[in-house]
Formats: sequence, C-alpha cells, structure tokens
Amino acid sequence: MQVFCDRCGKQADFNPKEFRCACGGAWEPPEQADFNPKKIDQGNHTVWRYRELMGLEAIDNPLTLGAGWTPLVEADWDGSPVSFKLEYMAPSGSFKDRGTEVEANFLKQAGISEVVEDSSGNAGASLAAYAARTGLRAAIYAPESASPAKLAQIAVYGADLRLIPGPRSACTQAVLQAAAAGAAVYASHAYNPVYLLGQQTFAWEMWEQNGGNLPEALVIPVGQGGLLLGAWMGFTRLLQAGLIGRIPKLFAVQPEVLAPISAAFYAGEEEVAEAASKEKSLAEGLAIVKPVRGRRILQALRESGGAVLTVSEAQIRKVHGELARKGFYAEPTSAAAAAAIEQVLKITGNNARIAIALTGSGLKSPMNS
Ligand SMILES: [Zn+2]
Repeated sequence: MQVFCDRCGKQADFNPKEFRCACGGAWEPPEQADFNPKKIDQGNHTVWRYRELMGLEAIDNPLTLGAGWTPLVEADWDGSPVSFKLEYMAPSGSFKDRGTEVEANFLKQAGISEVVEDSSGNAGASLAAYAARTGLRAAIYAPESASPAKLAQIAVYGADLRLIPGPRSACTQAVLQAAAAGAAVYASHAYNPVYLLGQQTFAWEMWEQNGGNLPEALVIPVGQGGLLLGAWMGFTRLLQAGLIGRIPKLFAVQPEVLAPISAAFYAGEEEVAEAASKEKSLAEGLAIVKPVRGRRILQALRESGGAVLTVSEAQIRKVHGELARKGFYAEPTSAAAAAAIEQVLKITGNNARIAIALTGSGLKSPMNS
C-alpha cells in the first residue's frame, strides 16, 4: 500500500514497522479510486461491506467481530430532531473498532505477530479484542487513572496491560520507547493509515442510512481525531463521485480544560501546538495534548465549514444524564459531543438536521449524573 508523509511528502510502500515517516510526520492513506456504490457488498453488515471501496481487496476472508453498521437513531432534543449514531454498539464498545478491525487484519496479513499501543482505554480495549480475535500478541500502555472498567476489559481479553503513572502523554512516551527497543509494531490509532481507512466507513454508513441525504452538520468528540478524519475522507470520496452535493459541516468538540484544537482553530493557525492540561476532564478519551494529525483536523473543520466547540465539565455531566434519560447510555467522552448541540444549533439554525456520534459505551465509565 503506497502511503505519503503529511509533513515532507515522501512516498513509501507502507511498512507497519515504520509507523511514521523518518521526519516525524504521519503516513497518509493512498489516494483512492472513485466511490462506486456498485462495489458495496449489500449482504454484509460489517465494515467489510466496503472492503473494495477501502482499497483493501487484498485482505481475503478477514477475521471479524462484526464492527460497523451501527444504528442511526433520531430523537427529539429540546424540540430539535437530532440523529445519534450509536458507535457504542461496537464489539468492544467504542467507535475505535471500525479502524482496529481493519488494521488488525492488515497487520496479521503483513506477518506481524506482536503489537503495542497507548490508550486512555477505548483504543487499548479495541486492540486487545482484535489481538485476541486474530492471534496477535498485544501490550497496552494505559494511564493508571483510566476507568477501572476499561482496564479490566483490556486485561480480560488477554493483553499485557502496562499501567503508567502520570498524564496520558506519559503512556505515549512509554510506548514509543517500547516500540523503538523491541520487535513489537506500534499499532497506533493515531498514526496508522490503515486505521483511518476503516474509519471512513462511518461516513458511508451515514450516507446509506440517510438514503443519500446527509445531515447538515456532524458533531464528534475529538482527541486524536481518527473518527473526524475518517468521516471527512469518506464524505470527500462521496463528493468526488458526485453522490452528494456537499460535505456535512464537521464540528469537533473538546473539553474546556484541554482544547488544543480550539486554540489553534481560533488563532488561525495551521498546526496544533501542545496544550497544557489544567485539570483532568470527565471526557477521558479527549486527554490528548497535541493530536498527531492536527494540521489535517484543522483543514477538515475549515473546508467543511465547521468549527471547534468547547464544553465545561458541568455541561458534560448534565448532558450525560440527559442522554441516559432518553435511553442512550454513552460514556462522558461522548456526552461532551452532545453537550455542544445547543452551540451547533445556534450556528446552523434550529431547523438544521444534525447528527452526533456517540462514540463509547456508558458501561466503560459508569457515572451517576
Ligand atoms: Zn516525512
């Protein structure tokens, strides 16, 4: 698979052992052919429904846990109809499974036997699940302070769980050292371009589930931005093929206490600078001080006509409860996105159709709100 570096433009045949370019940039997935709906495998209700459209025809008989094709449910939100994409219905309980199911099969086929990953919980649980399914050996570096339910989930799948004291960024440093020293491949949800190919399926599902008529805006909680970037790539493919007239406005949501993308967006910057975390957010999945693909995230937000919105801890807690009392049991990280609905409607107008990604299960971080 031909990839190119987002920073220096270097092209390479993707070797998973070189998880990023020598210049430090992230590998971008290759340019893809036009999206041809005839290539959708209509009988398949997993991410592999789009196998040929992801450019991964070479992966034969992929091992699946059934990631993808999550429900899209419409509910009333203070008088406005809002669609909720229930990513928490995924096999390990988060949206990460879309990318991980594809990435794990790719790594297995590339002859990789051992992987490492750093995670606040969801990516680690996802990789641990797919390591178990595909026979990869996995070590997951997670913060000591991660939700006990997520840590238990990682361990019970059989992964080697390494608890790292200190902030979330200490896990990244520990895993980078491990990847540099050992034989294991850094199967990073932030760096791996195959993971992003899998995340595109979110956009294509939205398109199919809406009968081709996409909502005006899509609201996503953003840490590393894998779902936002995957969705943007997927929508762009639909636009290029003439199947849609516009891409939904993409809104990234971050907690007020740690919002590096917001700072860069409103300062008119093209790169995201490292932010200092003032306090721990309830939205633990968003504890990223500097996203790897920050430049691309800013580009996606600006080109789609969207923005970054921030929410307070009190809003996250309140909306977590409001979601639950409508029947949606999402983790606080997902509640952050829903907490921005009011701000989005102020921008788009109350009659606009908007969709929210509920990215992770409430079972992972129980909270009584
Ligand atoms: Zn480079």
